[in-house]
Amino acid sequence: MPFLFVLRFLCCLRVLCVNLFFVSIAENISAIRERISSAAHRAGRNPDSVALMAVSKTRPAEDIRAAYEAGQRLFGENRVQEFAAKSGALRDLSAAEFHLIGHLQSNKSAKAAELFHAVDSLDSLKLAERLNAAAQSLNVRLSVLIEINIGGEAAKTGLAPDAAELIDLLSAAPRLSSLDFRGLMTVPPFTDDPEGARPYFRTLRELRDRLAIQFPALTLRELSMGMSHDFEVAIEEGSTCVRVGTAIFGARSYA
Ligand SMILES: *Cc1c(COP(=O)(O)O)cnc(C)c1O
Repeated sequence: MPFLFVLRFLCCLRVLCVNLFFVSIAENISAIRERISSAAHRAGRNPDSVALMAVSKTRPAEDIRAAYEAGQRLFGENRVQEFAAKSGALRDLSAAEFHLIGHLQSNKSAKAAELFHAVDSLDSLKLAERLNAAAQSLNVRLSVLIEINIGGEAAKTGLAPDAAELIDLLSAAPRLSSLDFRGLMTVPPFTDDPEGARPYFRTLRELRDRLAIQFPALTLRELSMGMSHDFEVAIEEGSTCVRVGTAIFGARSYA
């Protein structure tokens, strides 16, 4: 009898913990939405013009489900393998949209085209060719953003803002007919003060504006920029998609 009682008590405790944990992801999302809205209003923008992407890398499928139940639909993942392992448990989240936001090796293009709705980290013409072929053979369309290494950092991926390959890539877009080129993405150099990112965000927007004029047949509308610590500054500088991980799911631990 005491054993059963203890068991029942532990079960209640578990339900309580799970609820608390779900509530906190939901609460974080709603707090971030408020802050997105305020930043957009400050900048004279419509809050609906800024998408919130929940970056779920390193987080288990249950966290993604909790965010989905709180109304979140757009998710970002960094690695093909990691998402391949989680995606089976998430098949029933039919309205969820998953984007790859981490560096993709071209030999994983087929798997990426199968798993993701979009690749927001396209960084070479070779990768674009491979992704296009993969999307074509799956008979799907894949949205892409070109990743720009805006701070010219050696440790970061992405094309340099003045790379000839950037122009080659956009010139090739019309024949890469299974890819939709939608805009640019960047991760600026980290500074403790989020204001430090502002000039990089502005430079990315100016680059997008120039490219949109140079390639009027493409609709280069998207600017994916801003993360947990600097998304408000990014919105003030024109971001159309902020990628927020830790401020929604908590600190990541890399095992
Ligand atoms: C991890 C990651 C994010 C989210 O970063 P947070 O600081 O946790 O919000 C956004 N974009 C990319 C490309 C990332 O790798």
